[in-house]
Amino acid sequence: MILSEEYLYEMKEHIKEMQEGYFTRRGLTKETVLNDTGTMERLWTIYQKDVEDYGCDRAFSLDDAMNEVFGPEPKRSEPKYRCPFCGSKRFIGHQLIRADVYVDENGTYDNLPGGLEAHIYDSERPYGPFTCDKCGREFDELPEYNTVKLSRGTFTVVSGVDVRVFKKAGYGYHHEDSGYTVVSNGKSAVALSNADYDFYYGGQRSFTL
Ligand SMILES: [Zn+2]
Repeated sequence: MILSEEYLYEMKEHIKEMQEGYFTRRGLTKETVLNDTGTMERLWTIYQKDVEDYGCDRAFSLDDAMNEVFGPEPKRSEPKYRCPFCGSKRFIGHQLIRADVYVDENGTYDNLPGGLEAHIYDSERPYGPFTCDKCGREFDELPEYNTVKLSRGTFTVVSGVDVRVFKKAGYGYHHEDSGYTVVSNGKSAVALSNADYDFYYGGQRSFTL
């Protein structure tokens, strides 16, 4: 197969018309792809081969070459932490940060030149308590987000969360045969693994929240 420039041209035009999101989701930008000669040559070759050797139509072949080189749409991963009460993915926490500051003639802090963000040179991991930015519930640790399918529906599994917040929020509980304890306030429910239940309630099955 002799490579013909018109295929390269069409591939470039195709990429220019594509949504930037396709590239962002793969950790790329449209511009870097267009300027990367090696990648463009691979796309060109696959595209031309699809059309000339396999007789595929052009629209299909353009997409096929893109997916061959960049892979299919990456699956959106589930968030690691999420508020079990309202589903929010954002929390207000605390963090130790170190920044360059102006110091006056007495050797004390004077000012931050031009905003904090530009002057941070080191920061530690955010720590709790974490407050959900939507419903305001407070957690000692960030609530991990897992779900479990039970006969009555899909529930968030609460683990590593101080379940006293559920008690405060007026939740009651009952057991599921599948090894989960469901706590519910009538409107929404979350599931605790049995291990967590034992941890928090010392295995007292008759405990009432
Ligand atoms: Zn919340």
